[in-house]
Amino acid sequence: MEAEIAEFVRNMEAGKEGPYDGINTERDPLKIFKALHSTKVKPNAQFEHDFKLITACYYQIYLKSPQVQAIFRKRAHRNFMLRCLHHYALVTWTLQSDTPRPPGVSTISPITSLLNHSCDPNALTVIHSGRIVTVILRPVREGAQIFTSYGRRWWDPKLADYELSSFACQCVVCGNHPPGQKWRAALQRADVPKPILLEVSQIAKLVERPGLVDAAKMDAMKQFIKRHTRAYPLPALGEIVRLYAVFLEDAVQSENETRERLTVRAELLGD
Ligand SMILES: [Zn+2]
Repeated sequence: MEAEIAEFVRNMEAGKEGPYDGINTERDPLKIFKALHSTKVKPNAQFEHDFKLITACYYQIYLKSPQVQAIFRKRAHRNFMLRCLHHYALVTWTLQSDTPRPPGVSTISPITSLLNHSCDPNALTVIHSGRIVTVILRPVREGAQIFTSYGRRWWDPKLADYELSSFACQCVVCGNHPPGQKWRAALQRADVPKPILLEVSQIAKLVERPGLVDAAKMDAMKQFIKRHTRAYPLPALGEIVRLYAVFLEDAVQSENETRERLTVRAELLGD
């Protein structure tokens, strides 16, 4: 499969047809089935849970169809169907990446596809409910590049060990180059100003305060991040950026949900 992907990239660069172009244009279901069925990919234990969940969802949905029920009548038939769905979930995830190692999740959108990855992003991309929204996380100098994260962010402890399997990251956090060395030296600086630490604990308390609206909490975090841009990166600042990202993501999602509720209401009531 690695050889096939390499050939596909060579052909694509030369403007020639790729091996899967025929499948896309003809849309022959039997051809697609054969291609999916005979493709061999390595299993990935880290994402096995996701593949099983995807498999279970498709299985339940397909079995609602009387036509599918008529084909997969016995337990052995249905087990075969389950194994196939599980295999196709793994294959289709892998095909979306440029290496044969899953997971490879690509985002195809005219604007966000232009943003490169950094483990120290200055923007956050939220993919939710059919919309892709990119919001700024911390001040960006005029002319500086806007980075988003494809998964790993240095301030996120859960994702610290997350492997960016489809490429070797060369960002300021990971790369062995002068900007990276400078960035890491700044992160490990011992002289963290006391007022910053004090403010961090005040914001942590503010975030926990019941009854205070999210907008007020987010504003306090935003002002703090703005005020201390020059001191960035420090673990204490990273903690606030991490919290701000959590709130921003929630805000974008609830905005989407409000929009959807209004659409449904308009459709039901004919508003
Ligand atoms: Zn990186």
